[in-house]
Amino acid sequence: MNKEEIILKAILYSEKEPSKEQKARFGKFLKNKYGEGVELEYVKSDEYAGGFRLQVGDDIYDWSLAGRIRQLQETLVNVPTDKGDIIPLLKETVHDWTPEAYAEQIGEVLTVGDGIATVRGLDEVTFGEILIFAGGVRGMVQDIREDEIGCVLFNDDEDVTQGSLVKRTGRTAGTPVGEDFLGRAVDALGTPIDGLGEINAEGYMPVEAQAPHIIDRQPVDTPLETGIFSIDSMFPIGRGQRELIIGDRQTGKTAIATDAIINQKGKDCICIYVAIGQKTSSVVHIQQTLIKHEVMDYSIIISASASDPAPLQYIAPYAGCAMAEYFMNQGKDVLIIYDDLSKHAVAYRALSLLLDRSPGREAYPGDVFYLHSRLLERAARLSDEIGGGSVTALPIVETQAGDVSAYIPTNIISITDGQIFLESDLFFSGQRPAVNVGLSVSRVGGDAQTKAMKKAAGTLRIDLAQYREMEVFTQFASDLDDQTRAQLEYGQGLMRMLRQPQYKPKSQHEQVITLVMALAHTMQGIPAEKVEPFIEGFVKMFETEHADICEKIDREGVMDDELKEEIIKIAAEYRDGIN
Ligand code: ATP
Ligand code: MG
Repeated sequence: MNKEEIILKAILYSEKEPSKEQKARFGKFLKNKYGEGVELEYVKSDEYAGGFRLQVGDDIYDWSLAGRIRQLQETLVNVPTDKGDIIPLLKETVHDWTPEAYAEQIGEVLTVGDGIATVRGLDEVTFGEILIFAGGVRGMVQDIREDEIGCVLFNDDEDVTQGSLVKRTGRTAGTPVGEDFLGRAVDALGTPIDGLGEINAEGYMPVEAQAPHIIDRQPVDTPLETGIFSIDSMFPIGRGQRELIIGDRQTGKTAIATDAIINQKGKDCICIYVAIGQKTSSVVHIQQTLIKHEVMDYSIIISASASDPAPLQYIAPYAGCAMAEYFMNQGKDVLIIYDDLSKHAVAYRALSLLLDRSPGREAYPGDVFYLHSRLLERAARLSDEIGGGSVTALPIVETQAGDVSAYIPTNIISITDGQIFLESDLFFSGQRPAVNVGLSVSRVGGDAQTKAMKKAAGTLRIDLAQYREMEVFTQFASDLDDQTRAQLEYGQGLMRMLRQPQYKPKSQHEQVITLVMALAHTMQGIPAEKVEPFIEGFVKMFETEHADICEKIDREGVMDDELKEEIIKIAAEYRDGIN
């Protein structure tokens, strides 16, 4: 149909038929607003007492008593209530208020099902805009076609039926933000789900936002200590970095994330845990863990569980990121965990297929890379001129049978600055955390380590690589020469050293002195099963007898050659002492 052929019709609903003058005024208004040739039709209706309702195409001008009361209500809702005595403010608002006949665009639902609605009308709607459906159901525009739009629904679609009306809001999807969110668990739209009452939001941020520009950033050079020995020593994470945690199911991925949160205690770093498509029971477990370790007061949990509709799971990580950005813009450091992005991709795939988008590789839509790149690009360390805040992202991805070359894992590996690869075999053999040293990497690397840690970790990675190679090589050999045996024993000792129980993050000094001691071959001759008690005893002794050294390492993050030699000497004496 040509645009010219569409005849715009204006329908006026009111109790009484308008007088001649009134009709002339309407005619003039319509001519000004919509041009020539708009017919005005009158329909008698008792619904619009004390006023009228004018419908022109998709636009509706509600001048009924109820409409005007609603307008006043909307104005009053926006009066700030946290500024002390609000009575004068309310008086002033009511006094200054004049009702307006503004156009509201109204559309009509064509089809609805599986959390997706197609809508006719709403010509001027924008991509990502929030729409309000019957019964207050909210939805987001995800598809704009020539004569209809596709919209995902955030609530139960029971109340929405074919033919029900839809209203524009003019706002894109957003999330309330504020200090009060710390210590709370909320859903993807920022509504509390922990039963602790309302949250006072300080603002509203769009869930989709531009990543900071290059000029607004600065290099990543400040460590974000996870307290996990194998990570801090070999794959250090810096503030503003994106490090992927990847592995099969039940390999301790979430455990690494929670330990990293627990280790931020007293380090001035806000933590946000985004659960996507997880069981509600697991999320509750994490919340309890965080409360138990007294770290919930600087954390936020955002949960779009497996039972939530796909659209909520889809926007949850963006909402989490918006909350993180709120704190970053105030110059604070934030650690955000997306657990996990494979389920996020699956939710997006479900949504895209329901919206009739053409499926590509593994049935994911063509823009699934952009789905994660635009999210992870928002992790940044801002320059000092704009506050120097940072968002460090730890996305989690689940692999199937250790296959890192599948579609979603490769995408996310290429977006992040490195990955911690967790392996089932290691996990089941008791090597926990099950970090595969060969396949893991941190591309920011040494810049994100303190000088002391860098110096202490020295040859650890190379030594472990040599050990792994030799282990494979000597697997079937029955008699080994002494040197090989010693090398194997040394490697085994290092692997034992990297074992670490859950919820026991290690401090900087503990990691540094352990590394210096172990890499000096101090543990040579100690049987594998005695390595862990030996290290524990050594650290305990060191902390009580050389507290000054520990304190110096923690505070200054440096260790000169002299200090290193001293630690080695103390370690050797300790070993000789217990033998
Ligand atoms: P899923 O795929 O189900 O999300 P996951 O990879 O996130 O699993 P976790 O839930 O973190 O794995 O851990 C699986 C189990 O291993 C848990 O019971 C956890 O307590 C245990 N576990 C994880 N890390 C360690 C560790 N370092 N030491 C001992 N047990 C651990
Ligand atoms: Mg998990």
